[in-house]
Amino acid sequence: MSVVAPPGRSTLRAFLAAELRARRTGIVQQWLDAISDRVAIDDNEVFPTEDLLNHVPILIDGIATFLEAPENQLDTASPVTAKAMELGALRHSQGFDAYQILKEHEMLVRIILAELREPAETRSSAPGEILDCWEEIAQAVELIRQATVTHFLRVAGERVNEREERLRRFNRMVAHELKNRVGALRGAAHMLEEDWLGENERKRFQTMIVENSQGLQHVLANLEALSRLDSDARQSRNVLLPQAAAESVRQLAEAAAARQVTIVIAESLPPVEVDAAAAELCIANLVSNAIKYSDPSKKERRVEISGQLRYPSAGDGELIVRVSDNGIGISPQARPELFRRFYRAHSETVTDAEGTGLGLSIVRETAESLGGSAWAEFPEDGSTIFAFSFPSRREEDAAAAGIRRPGSPPAVELG
Ligand code: ADP
Repeated sequence: MSVVAPPGRSTLRAFLAAELRARRTGIVQQWLDAISDRVAIDDNEVFPTEDLLNHVPILIDGIATFLEAPENQLDTASPVTAKAMELGALRHSQGFDAYQILKEHEMLVRIILAELREPAETRSSAPGEILDCWEEIAQAVELIRQATVTHFLRVAGERVNEREERLRRFNRMVAHELKNRVGALRGAAHMLEEDWLGENERKRFQTMIVENSQGLQHVLANLEALSRLDSDARQSRNVLLPQAAAESVRQLAEAAAARQVTIVIAESLPPVEVDAAAAELCIANLVSNAIKYSDPSKKERRVEISGQLRYPSAGDGELIVRVSDNGIGISPQARPELFRRFYRAHSETVTDAEGTGLGLSIVRETAESLGGSAWAEFPEDGSTIFAFSFPSRREEDAAAAGIRRPGSPPAVELG
């Protein structure tokens, strides 16, 4: 589309500004295509909401306005700056880095200049006038870029601060836990040196040493699991879910036998690929809890691992794994606290279950680090269910689980 303006009748600035406005939809589309080519995200996600896509032309309008009247500064109160900042927050949530943002603005200048070349050539403008327009366009894009990048860096900085704060809190809790346990160990060891100690007291202090050293071992094993999780993300190994479940059960066979708990892996467990380290860590933690908190008064103590692949809407699926048990259960008051680090619901009532209160938070953090979640369910029949979900993005998963994804064509039988 070209705006017909008789050469020489308007200034070059006004002429190019009108051209820019008339061509803005095309410019936005070209920009979007260029970004999609460079960045590995879906076209629909480059500007994910209709709202934002409708608003990106405001950036082009802003450049046109600045070109016409550069004395009207693009300051923080202008809608263009607000949109540029929104773009910065969006790019952060999409995992762009600062370099990609700088690049996308460089592409925008190139597209704008290429679009304006043809109409500009219809004019016989003085070189000075052309240079002025070029400077204005470059400066407007620069201001937009600064607003986008500044806001992007501000959001990124806030996230880093939040993460640091979480880490500090976690370190405080771990240090506290370790200090308490070592303190109890030293105290008990010291007492054992006393000659006047009776047999019963001696036994009590010995038990204290065993329990606290087991507790220490457990905290350290959990910390190790947490740190392994970070590095495993880069070199993950995939296995089928039933294999991950079988491996977790194998690790816990002895503990289950000691408490006469039967572990069942449901046949319906969908044979989809999962990250081996993450799935085994989550399943093992939940099954280990189900064993630890089994009910000695029940004749049959059962733990069942089941799973389900579902597609709540068109798009990504969700793999849900549930570990249910008929153990001692959890009181309604304690339920909201589960998944909080170091929280233990039965520390007073169940004294033979060693633990640190880290297992459930590790399950939740593992699932969340992969884009899933973790939760507990308490059905009417009195059983306890802990569940976690992982996103399922692979096309083959639905076929492997024998279900049809919403929005996909029905399978065609060949032959
Ligand atoms: P812990 O090391 O204490 O087992 P977790 O974070 O794994 O720590 O669990 C937190 C608390 O939640 C446990 O101390 C226990 O009180 C409760 N809990 C976890 N799983 C179960 C379960 N299957 N049945 C009953 N209570 C459970």
